[in-house]
Amino acid sequence: QNGQVASRTSAGAGKASVSYSESEKKLYLYGFPDKLQGETVNQVGFYGYQAEEVNSSQDIETSLEQGNYRLVFVYMPLFRSSPKEEQRLIELKHRHPEQLTLVYVSDEDTFAQRLRAIRAGGEAFLVMPLDFGWLIDKLDALRRDIPEEPYHILIVDDDQEQVAYYAMLLQQAGMITSVASDPLKVLSILVESKPDMILMDLYMPGCSGTELVRLLRQHEVFITMPIIFLSYESDPEVRMEAVRNGGDDFFTKPVDPQYLISVVKVRVARTRSMRFFMERDSLTGLLNHSNLKEQLARELHRAGRIGMPISFAMIDTDLFKRVNDTYGHLTGDRVLKSLARLLQDRLRRSDIVGRYGGEEFGVILLNANSKNAKRIMDEVRKSFAQVVHKAKDREFYVTFSCGIASYPEFDTAEKLSHAADEAMYAAKEAGRNRVLTAAEYRTADTAGE
Ligand code: GH3
Ligand code: MG
Ligand code: MG
Repeated sequence: QNGQVASRTSAGAGKASVSYSESEKKLYLYGFPDKLQGETVNQVGFYGYQAEEVNSSQDIETSLEQGNYRLVFVYMPLFRSSPKEEQRLIELKHRHPEQLTLVYVSDEDTFAQRLRAIRAGGEAFLVMPLDFGWLIDKLDALRRDIPEEPYHILIVDDDQEQVAYYAMLLQQAGMITSVASDPLKVLSILVESKPDMILMDLYMPGCSGTELVRLLRQHEVFITMPIIFLSYESDPEVRMEAVRNGGDDFFTKPVDPQYLISVVKVRVARTRSMRFFMERDSLTGLLNHSNLKEQLARELHRAGRIGMPISFAMIDTDLFKRVNDTYGHLTGDRVLKSLARLLQDRLRRSDIVGRYGGEEFGVILLNANSKNAKRIMDEVRKSFAQVVHKAKDREFYVTFSCGIASYPEFDTAEKLSHAADEAMYAAKEAGRNRVLTAAEYRTADTAGE
């Protein structure tokens, strides 16, 4: 999701060009009562989604057979009057598992009803009254045009032959692999590349797998990292000891390749979705403050090593208090959400967007000096200023001010964010709705003296 693991890997590079496809921003409503339908069309429209009514499962079937993708929200009470439709949808989902995504909307939140939705092929379950903020999150999550980053597995093993074998297995399953043949190097590899999972040998020179896991688990950021031991060791006592020390599982070699791949996939998928909620801000889905900072430090580290410029942009929404006071806090939230989405849509997938706090956002622009970063952020600024926000029957516009600081001019995360912050305040002083770089603001400063 969202360039979180930036598309710097060769496996991910080809996918980065996947374009924003408008057809994916469509959803279909089946069996919705008129009022709810009108409201849904309206609300999802704020986020650029187009909702349309579909009149029968026959219509859905026809479009699937024409090769179209369909995301359909089904109003479950419909099944009370037409029980056959439930069966037809199940059959449709069965015949077109990839092309059809079903989301069930229910008027009761019971275990039985949720189970029924799962059995009817539902990928999500929403309860009335609909929480549209949540619905939009679901929509974003279900979108098929956001390619997922390939899973990244780190293999820690001193045996070259073993490493080559497991790397090949994982790569054939579409994953990318890193290797640490020296356990003492693992920490620095982890800090820079943050893989999704570690496959660890038990016996290595210098430091045993068990010791290494204990050491890693002492770092807060690696607590959720799935670690699986692979070893010829069959003594149950040793295996138990490894798990007690923080390993998630223990596989005895030789491992059945199919089984290993399945376990890796399932674990990584679950860890990713868990991480998504831990690292992200619940309103906007962007990285939260501490993770944005963490990424900034990581990217700086990398930029220093490969000699690449990066820029940090700090954004603060203009006169936002007034938006809240005039249109209400909920409308304010919606404005913040739309800015978050605009940032994600307009910036490159490799750029990293976070919510810095309140109505402030931070963006890490990779491989961009301050001149490039200014051009990019200024385009975003102009677009955002043109977005129409709606509150009941009124329309209004919101702007933001932005400050930019870049590496190598500023060479620590603290200096970067401090300088970007200063430039942002200078942009406010200068009249808001503008982008200033640290260099510009400092020159202006001296010019004024
Ligand atoms: P300036 O142009 O100087 O930045 O003016 P401002 O009104 O944006 O600045 P100020 O810092 O005085 O006010 C920020 C406002 O943003 C106050 C706060 O209630 C609002 N805000 C912060 N977080 C949220 C949020 O999550 N949702 C909503 N709706 N409002 C928020
Ligand atoms: Mg502020
Ligand atoms: Mg503000």
